[in-house]
Amino acid sequence: MKAPALFLGHGNPMNAIDDNLFVTTLNRLGKTLPKPKAVLVISAHWTEPFSAVSLHESELLYDMYGFPRELYMVTYPAKNGDFLIPRLQNMIPDLRVEKRALDHGVWSVLLHLFPDADVPVIELCINSKFSMREHFEMGKALGVLREEGVMIVGSGNVTHNLREAVLGDKDASVDAWAKEFDSFVKDALVSHDFDALIDFETRQRYAHLAHPTKEHYIPLLYIAGASMSDEKSRFVYEGIEHGNLSMRSWITGE
Ligand code: ZN
Repeated sequence: MKAPALFLGHGNPMNAIDDNLFVTTLNRLGKTLPKPKAVLVISAHWTEPFSAVSLHESELLYDMYGFPRELYMVTYPAKNGDFLIPRLQNMIPDLRVEKRALDHGVWSVLLHLFPDADVPVIELCINSKFSMREHFEMGKALGVLREEGVMIVGSGNVTHNLREAVLGDKDASVDAWAKEFDSFVKDALVSHDFDALIDFETRQRYAHLAHPTKEHYIPLLYIAGASMSDEKSRFVYEGIEHGNLSMRSWITGE
């Protein structure tokens, strides 16, 4: 059975342990989806100057600082999705296999989506040498795995500028530039205008404010690439928190 592709805005790492509408939405979504054979995740929190997948051995990275101790005690004992490695090696030239625990971009969302940790997980890093179009094309190539029951998840944020964010107030009034950039992405996804997403830096005037660095945006290109034109898609969650952090999340082929 074909598995969906899903982009998740992961936002504040506290979402891993908080109870709010975003996490209950993920939890509900996970219950309605047929159990995938594995989840392949592209997270904002793993970038390398090469392509690699992880052998995580069910271990987690606590790659965030200054949060309550509870957050550093989270576990998520998912198995390695290592049976996918030969397939991925055929698709991605010079793919490395690294020993690396799962980062919080992966576990903070998967633990709500599949709380029983009963779906094997493999993470693919962002190759910093790729152009935006190459990220999109890689997503397109990975899309065939969906036909084999492998769900593809991109974990980032549609807008991400922590310097401008009001970190202490989730409900801070929303900045106009964040709203405008978020709408640009929304419209591009609805109309399948993926060239606009790829060329976002020249197509949207606030691109550099929305993404002073691009790692939280890039996972979205993988999910747009992995989508198929004949399938239905929808936003599973929308909302801008901390003044300008968009939590917009999108599923295709549900
Ligand atoms: Zn992040």
